[in-house]
Amino acid sequence: MGESVYRKPVAVFVACLFAALCALVLHAAPAPSGAPKLRIASLPATAPTLSAEQVVYGALDASFVPGNSPYTPNAADTRRWYRLATDRDWNAASPPVLSFTGATYIRITVYAPPGYQPEGLWFAQTEGIHRFSRHHLAVQLPQDLRAGQPIYVEIASDSFTRQIKPTLTDMAHYQAEDLAHVRLTTLFASVQFTMILAAMCLWLVLRDRVLSYFIGYATFQLVYQMLMSGEIYELPGGSLLVPLGTRAPWLFATLSAPLSMSFILEFCDLREITPKAAKIMGWMRWPFLPAALLIWMPFAVRTNTLVNSFNLWFMVTSIWSLGAVILAALRHGRQARFFLIAWMPQVMLTLLRVLQILLKLDLPPWLEYGYPFTMAFSCVVVTIGLADLSLRARRERDMAHHLADHDALTGVLNRRALVRRLHAAIADARLHNEPLALLFLDMDHFKSVNDRYGHQVGDACLRAVAEAIADELRPTDWLGRYGGEEFVACLPGASHDNAMHIGERIRHRIETLQVHSRGTTLQTTISMGVAILGDQTDTADELIARADAALYRAKLDGRNRIVAHSPFAATGH
Ligand code: GH3
Ligand code: MG
Ligand code: MG
Repeated sequence: MGESVYRKPVAVFVACLFAALCALVLHAAPAPSGAPKLRIASLPATAPTLSAEQVVYGALDASFVPGNSPYTPNAADTRRWYRLATDRDWNAASPPVLSFTGATYIRITVYAPPGYQPEGLWFAQTEGIHRFSRHHLAVQLPQDLRAGQPIYVEIASDSFTRQIKPTLTDMAHYQAEDLAHVRLTTLFASVQFTMILAAMCLWLVLRDRVLSYFIGYATFQLVYQMLMSGEIYELPGGSLLVPLGTRAPWLFATLSAPLSMSFILEFCDLREITPKAAKIMGWMRWPFLPAALLIWMPFAVRTNTLVNSFNLWFMVTSIWSLGAVILAALRHGRQARFFLIAWMPQVMLTLLRVLQILLKLDLPPWLEYGYPFTMAFSCVVVTIGLADLSLRARRERDMAHHLADHDALTGVLNRRALVRRLHAAIADARLHNEPLALLFLDMDHFKSVNDRYGHQVGDACLRAVAEAIADELRPTDWLGRYGGEEFVACLPGASHDNAMHIGERIRHRIETLQVHSRGTTLQTTISMGVAILGDQTDTADELIARADAALYRAKLDGRNRIVAHSPFAATGH
């Protein structure tokens, strides 16, 4: 099967997959709920430090400063108080839900009417019954929430200042949106999981290193993603990751990076195609190991320089790897092109995400799902790439098989295969009690062709003659190259007369054949000896020897003729 045969359907499949995933992401965009607006006031850092009860009782109400921002940023290393209130009474059919976006791994405590009891919200929470996914941290408020009624929120400190956005939505809308979110994240995770599973099945049998790298990096990335969506904490054993908190995603991202680089090196054949870049890339993997160990240290996430250097190293290695893959693709690296297609959406989305963070824009849903989406997409494309790799390996094996049995110059069977086939053909003829004829062919004065026109013209002549002989044979006959310009044709089922007839056809064909090569046109002739399989004691060697002897006679008799081994009478041209 030619490569082009499957290239088109694969391209169509990849394009359809991309379109389908895009449609899913866009479809999941939430509908506006038209809920009352939240007014946000914050307690300045200069306010006196009082207990939570005192703040909630209103002791510092005069100190809260109303703000215009839709965000309640936490402050690095200090906890913060906010007071939220709606601009009008709640009048929707379902109760209000207060949700916080961007509060992954930040503890939030909500004191809401009527009781103002503290309600802790925590991303990695595993105890209690969950009403919502971990998409946002959410809490239900009373149905009779009135305009201006205060809700106090305490946001714990983090090592960075983050933009946390509180939103008020009615329960019906919130749940519909949450369901769509779960559907989508589950779908993307399942696609990835399925690809990993398929690769594992292949690995169990093939034990291919490139497959193990794929399984390794894709699994770590899947865990990273499930940590980011928080759904991993719902799985059995997920609570084991809770103590790691925000360090858990860091750890898995750090472990995935060197494995994905190993995969790229192997899969894209970079050591062959771009050896220098590959060597540097190989070294670039090592700092990730001490980094993974450092992440276990409790101080790691609180040390900004450490976090920043991790980020920088991630970026440097990604850009370097991307450059190497592009270079390999330009140098006609087939696998590199596959990987580039798989990787491009991810690169584009990462750039967009960086832009969104730098410009402090809200995260649009299509961008939020971008990462899981591109991960699922790249897993599928890389799996097709792995299939392509094994197809090529199979082709190389077939090629090796072919070369082992065939002559490289003329493409007909080589001597070894020819003798093997002859043994089988003789056994077959005996079994079915059928005749078998052998032609031994030798080109006339071939040495002078080489002497006069050179070896290359001689080679062209050999190829043309082999092709012409094969063309004159019947479908059940076969041809082999016995030596230099000597061929053997086996004609199963052919009687003496059949063989003489076929031989004569070949002789005539070669006589009239015009070989064009390197600006010259030449003609040649061929001599043939014919032998017929004898009684039970006859062997392949004897058959060849008799045909060779007949050929000798044909040469002696003046060449360009066909001679049968006695006892049959010789006929000639
Ligand atoms: P005759 O009619 O007696 O067979 O004369 P001849 O010149 O064909 O006989 P001989 O067996 O002495 O020479 C065979 C020549 O075939 C010798 C060699 O130069 C040439 N030859 C053998 N193998 C190859 C090959 O692979 N390529 C080319 N170009 N020439 C070859
Ligand atoms: Mg010859
Ligand atoms: Mg010869």
